[in-house]
Amino acid sequence: MPRSPITPRLPTHSPTPGVSAFILTAALLAAVQLVVDEPVLLLAERFVPGAGWAEIALLAVYAGWLADRLQRPGQWARLRTRVWLVFSAVFFGQLTLGLLGVERCLMTGELHLPVPALVVGGPLYRGEGLFMPILLLSTLVLVGPAWCSWLCYIGAWDNVLARRARMGRPPSPRVREWTRFGLLVATVVLALGLRWSGLDTLVAVLLAATFGLAGVGVMAWVSRRRGWMAHCTAFCPLGWLVVRLGKLSPFRIGIRPSCVSCATCRPDCRFGALDREAWRRQRVHDSCTLCGDCLQTCGALELRYGPLGDLASRRLLSVMVAALHAVFLGVARI
Ligand code: SF4
Ligand code: SF4
Repeated sequence: MPRSPITPRLPTHSPTPGVSAFILTAALLAAVQLVVDEPVLLLAERFVPGAGWAEIALLAVYAGWLADRLQRPGQWARLRTRVWLVFSAVFFGQLTLGLLGVERCLMTGELHLPVPALVVGGPLYRGEGLFMPILLLSTLVLVGPAWCSWLCYIGAWDNVLARRARMGRPPSPRVREWTRFGLLVATVVLALGLRWSGLDTLVAVLLAATFGLAGVGVMAWVSRRRGWMAHCTAFCPLGWLVVRLGKLSPFRIGIRPSCVSCATCRPDCRFGALDREAWRRQRVHDSCTLCGDCLQTCGALELRYGPLGDLASRRLLSVMVAALHAVFLGVARI
């Protein structure tokens, strides 16, 4: 790996993040177990009443382990890619079992399409179903746009495909943002239009499936060949909302004045948030999703959370993302 002229700051080991992630995960999932009923029940609870507590214990231990491992120098980017894929595999595994007839692996027993844009379009079309928008908003308050780099079941694949090619030059941030915004407007207009026109539900399902397949095509044809995450930064309408509403969270990536524009960090950022303009104005582009991969490359990059310094902010982010990742493993299904 090329080296930046500015030595990256390395986290020092501390047991605190692991313990905190364990407690946070156990508390969040215990609230689900005690308060929430169908359809959000933990998977184990759906099969064996009472077994949800064992699942909570396992997921809390896992979150503690993950938050702890994220502190080790050089581990962050590799671990993030792996656990993100694990989440996506569990999510689609449950969907596959649901399609094969194991209805308890589906959220409601009814089939929904795994297309991120439907987090916006679905409730507008149906006029109900606010579980996903509320889950999204709560997550954005806690970890901002890290939803897109840790918790989205589709983004995990865009990341893997983009990393198979050498990082190319993406279109300008403005072009990518306007494309996503246009697709968001189209999603809203189409969802409301279909609802009010009273057309057969099949038309809506076919349109949503076509949009989902187009997204797969973007990943296979653009991300895979050009090395930047075309689906997540130029196609997904939900991503446009996520990076904007993600400002509700105080987490920010900063570029220090010590940056010498050497471009070593550029291939780390498949979200296309680091380029000459970003280094010059010392501000990452809005497509940054707080993945954190660039932090291990260069000391001119830092994470901030209000007044907290870089290493404390990284610890806080690792606790939050590890806990949310474990909670999503327990409750996120379609
Ligand atoms: S942040 Fe600046 S100095 Fe550091 S690797 Fe990137 S371009 Fe080079
Ligand atoms: S700027 Fe850094 S933290 Fe933000 S998306 Fe790019 S690599 Fe990830």
